[in-house]
Amino acid sequence: MQASQLTHTLSFRLDIETGGGDDLQTGCLEARRIRNEANRLDKDGWEWTNLKSTVVDNADHVKNTSQLIVDKALGEIERYHDHTDDGWGRPYPYKDGMYPLVMNHGEGYRLFIKDEDTVRFRITATRGTHVKGELRGSPGHFDRLRTAFSNDEWRVGTAEVVHKHDERGLHVTVTHENHHVAGQHDSETIVGVDVNEDCVALAGMDRDGDVKDSVVLEYPEIKEQRHEFFTKRKRMQKANQTAFETVVKTEERDYVHDCLHKVSRQVVDWVSQFSTPLIVFEDLKDMRDSIDYGTRMNRRLHSLPFAALQDMVAYKAAWDGIPSTKVDPEYTSQRCPRTECQHTERANRRKKRFKCRQCEFQDHADRKAAVCVGQNWFDEQHGNVPSLETLPRVKKVRRAASGRGGATDSHGAIFASGVDRHGTSAQGGIQAREELKSVASALQD
Ligand SMILES: [Zn+2]
Repeated sequence: MQASQLTHTLSFRLDIETGGGDDLQTGCLEARRIRNEANRLDKDGWEWTNLKSTVVDNADHVKNTSQLIVDKALGEIERYHDHTDDGWGRPYPYKDGMYPLVMNHGEGYRLFIKDEDTVRFRITATRGTHVKGELRGSPGHFDRLRTAFSNDEWRVGTAEVVHKHDERGLHVTVTHENHHVAGQHDSETIVGVDVNEDCVALAGMDRDGDVKDSVVLEYPEIKEQRHEFFTKRKRMQKANQTAFETVVKTEERDYVHDCLHKVSRQVVDWVSQFSTPLIVFEDLKDMRDSIDYGTRMNRRLHSLPFAALQDMVAYKAAWDGIPSTKVDPEYTSQRCPRTECQHTERANRRKKRFKCRQCEFQDHADRKAAVCVGQNWFDEQHGNVPSLETLPRVKKVRRAASGRGGATDSHGAIFASGVDRHGTSAQGGIQAREELKSVASALQD
């Protein structure tokens, strides 16, 4: 049984006051040099203990930081070697972009909790060079950071300085000492997750690739409310009412945050029906880095805090001992899930309907995407996807009816596999909203 400690990664932006972004860049370039040096020596057949001490001795970082960077590099090289037999023909993993600066708290970096809203940082960019300033980030991540500092059961661990376009970020890990999460290799059910601006689709598959159960959790009110907030803010911008605009912004953020908390709880509850599940998300980082994922993907990325929803699900799941992971999101929305077909074309999808142009297989587009996310995980694990012949019926759950409470399903006719509905009856918009508030406050971490 391979289990890991309960560890979360909190991400912040760095608001730099002393020292410069250039110093951090120099630090990351030195990290990259260390990474590539480890590669080179490994290729030359060096024994790893020897390799590690040699690279660390010659690095321009504090010792502890150099050791962590070499550990990260060796971990990547090890994974590379593990997969060389798969015949993927991947290039030897040299890095030409930035490489993260990995540091231990108290050694390479230090955080200082000042007050309610202020956390300051000090990072040793290279030996003897310090960069200082304040962290910026979401309230949820600040809460968890404060908990990690004030509660004995939590430990603030390593952090990585990352470069994203022109911004510098800090990813801080916090670990719960006594809580363990199951290892993903023990999982009997693989749950693919497809997040959209109006729903999240889940598909639980067994190790043979058969879908055991699937569900589409709908939350159209988030999209509607965000649209209303958007209009409100635009009106205020026109009237130059910036103070009110900030109030609306906060109101919107809190509203969305509350909704996402409740949705994420529902996701974890659904996943918990399986005995040893693994939650598989699409890696949003991969989406953002690639240029052409089409307008749908771009809209998805900008229209909802998807990362926040994934994060909340992963967090709540981890508390229940359920592991989660991320896979390359390639073609999850366009690919036919039938193993013998796999036809991939943008035209396969039209709004919420998926119809394969080649084999005419039909399904709810988001549910099918969730199945494809699961399949991408199988593909990454074993290099092949188990055969999928049939899919069970689509179940849709509308969390809070939006005014039309329990109205008939306007999409009903297009689902080849039929539609079940739960939770829509006798649930008016107001009641649902109130329920949402109370659940959201109960869920505050
Ligand atoms: Zn097909």
